[in-house]
Amino acid sequence: MVATYLEDQGILADVRGGAYQSVVGELINIRGTLPRVWVLDDGEAERAKQLVAAFVASLRSAPAGEPWVCACGETLEPQFQSCWKCQAARP
Ligand SMILES: [Zn+2]
Repeated sequence: MVATYLEDQGILADVRGGAYQSVVGELINIRGTLPRVWVLDDGEAERAKQLVAAFVASLRSAPAGEPWVCACGETLEPQFQSCWKCQAARP
């Protein structure tokens, strides 16, 4: 979700690690097993940090509510203010 968000902002990102996440699940967080988002251009690292911080803050402050349906037909959880599929803003 974070990598997709960064790419939507024009920053190339990749998810690395987490290969054992499906085995380990959420029961145990072993150092090095959690997925990490890598920004591919070092020059974009600081902007990416700021965007991710704002993104996480927006998720934490999002009001609870009902899922909403985008004009494209995608159903989205209430914390999302735009559609991941077509990037349309929440009505
Ligand atoms: Zn949409």
